[in-house]
Amino acid sequence: MSFGAAIDGLIQALRVLPGVGPKSAQRMAFFLLERNRAGAAQLVVQLQKALENVRRCDQCRNLTDQPRCAICTDARRDQRLLCIVEAPADVAALEQSGGFRGRYFVLHGRLSPLDGLGPKELGFEHLFAQLTNDLTEVVIATNPTVEGEATAHYLAQECHRRSLPVSRIAHGVPIGGELEYLDGNTLTQAMSARRRV
Ligand SMILES: [Zn+2]
Repeated sequence: MSFGAAIDGLIQALRVLPGVGPKSAQRMAFFLLERNRAGAAQLVVQLQKALENVRRCDQCRNLTDQPRCAICTDARRDQRLLCIVEAPADVAALEQSGGFRGRYFVLHGRLSPLDGLGPKELGFEHLFAQLTNDLTEVVIATNPTVEGEATAHYLAQECHRRSLPVSRIAHGVPIGGELEYLDGNTLTQAMSARRRV
């Protein structure tokens, strides 16, 4: 069913968002047009502003509206502690947890040749230039997927070649979780990564 070019175009455009199918896009379009035109206008302004100003940080490749992001330029953070993550959302999650006070490097993906993601796309050259002797530790926090693990393995080797202390984030039992509901892989990993208390 067609609602005319303007409405159809808006519905189609909203479908670029992750997890938004035709029905949700239609609901959003009608909501904006019927009930919140001021919000829609604000959305246009902010989207335009973000597209014009947001870029990758020169040092860590996280998204920022400055040449260097607020984390890379924060003198109170330990700049010798480097955490490698796959995505800006991972930085946000770690920052919200408040448990890390170093800096980051964002790969924007993980090694995945089938998706056209190789060392060049992940900025390895830029990353390796930052793997210098003044780092006290490199923490590899890629996701515990097959590709994330392969990427972690590759990066760990590069750190070993430079004699840098390198660690991998732990995987295992989630806080508040129950052993009987965990999958076998997670449980095996949790058991092998056990620590003395
Ligand atoms: Zn940065």
